[in-house]
Amino acid sequence: MDNTASITAADFDTIVVGGGIAGVSIAYELAAHRSVALVERESTLAYHTTGRSAATFLESYGNATVRALTRASRDFFVAPPDIVDGPLVAELPLLIVAEETEVDGLRALYETVSPRSQTIELVDGNAAEQLNPMLRSGYTDLAMVDYGSLELDVHGLHQGFLRGLRRRGGTVLKSAGIVEARRERSSWVLRDAAGDELRARTVVNAAGAWCDEVAGMFGAAPIGIAPLRRTAFMVPDPRETPARSIAARRTMTMSASEDFYFKPDGAGFLCSPAEETPQPPSDAKPDDLEIARAIERLNEATLLAVRSVSTSWAGLRSFTADRTPVVGPDPAVDGLFWFAGQGGYGIQMAPALARAGASLALTDDLPADLADFGITAASLAPGRSALAA
Ligand SMILES: Cc1cc2nc3c(=O)[nH]c(=O)nc-3n(C[C@H](O)[C@H](O)[C@H](O)COP(=O)(O)OP(=O)(O)OC[C@H]3O[C@@H](n4cnc5c(N)ncnc54)[C@H](O)[C@@H]3O)c2cc1C
Repeated sequence: MDNTASITAADFDTIVVGGGIAGVSIAYELAAHRSVALVERESTLAYHTTGRSAATFLESYGNATVRALTRASRDFFVAPPDIVDGPLVAELPLLIVAEETEVDGLRALYETVSPRSQTIELVDGNAAEQLNPMLRSGYTDLAMVDYGSLELDVHGLHQGFLRGLRRRGGTVLKSAGIVEARRERSSWVLRDAAGDELRARTVVNAAGAWCDEVAGMFGAAPIGIAPLRRTAFMVPDPRETPARSIAARRTMTMSASEDFYFKPDGAGFLCSPAEETPQPPSDAKPDDLEIARAIERLNEATLLAVRSVSTSWAGLRSFTADRTPVVGPDPAVDGLFWFAGQGGYGIQMAPALARAGASLALTDDLPADLADFGITAASLAPGRSALAA
């Protein structure tokens, strides 16, 4: 059943603002217990950051809370529930390569992440070149390989949550940008740009880069979200080295200081300068200078022989000061619940983070299995000291 609709003045238990991966995933979880409306400003869901990711699942990426949320999401990706059509993952080991100056940093990363993983090992430059024959001979001094990394079907995941939300009776409203919120007794009334109004006791702020803007409509203090642009681009398969190119399709490769990465994608390679350039919330555009810088690095480190770029895009990865998501009730504003700050990990954390968010919204507590991963409500709380201005 398609519950997509255009309606005027309607009551829900919960309204979720934002139709990216954050919004659809928590809306799906909440809809098992509450009536839910999901509202998205664009005419297409997942138009912003969610539709622009590199689609990877990297358990060694991010801080301890992010890594725990990622590990806690693995089972969902590997054996998804029946809301999802087909498999969501394919194996794609991550190879992090260090030049001489990056070796100490890579060893430190290995010391941090290896105790929680049986799939990570350090290898020398020769072994790295065998894993990815597209690496230029002699470039790598030390490498870390994570055999547990995965490639994700982001569209399949987003569509799955959306399908599940609709099956649970949820309402989805597109082209419904919220412009105003007002309090009426114990409810919030939200007005969209067309003048339509929706009412709910609880509003979930899942507006990505716009989360502080949305919070301002409720009179809530900002969490200091920092949207950081990241560019990605596609390059064709190099014709000179067909055998190496085929072998290179088995890994994703990233520099230890994260100033470039590349992974197989369709008939070519998806590459990124991995930049973090602060930007106000907006429809992000790729940066030609960053692309040129990445091409220089790629040609220095690999045999990709990049000469041309077929397509490019950019998205905003939105971070809090401690690079941890913000999940929980606003400390000062009744009925406003935060679900923001997904940073560069919003896809890979989505299944566990949505369960954590729904549970905190409904019971004030985390599910026991997520607590077992070391995830705490305090580390996600909007009022935590790390976010103080
Ligand atoms: C180049 C790149 C590579 C990445 N690679 C990975 C990766 O490999 N793995 C990974 O896990 N993550 C990755 N990420 C990060 C991931 O994409 C994000 O963490 C995630 O998509 C954030 O989802 P979101 O729903 O919070 O934000 P968004 O997808 O931006 O959704 C927020 C939505 O809120 C809507 N909105 C805002 N204001 C309003 C309003 N007033 N009314 C109604 N709607 C509103 C917006 O229109 C938007 O659609 C990458 C990101 C980039 C840019």
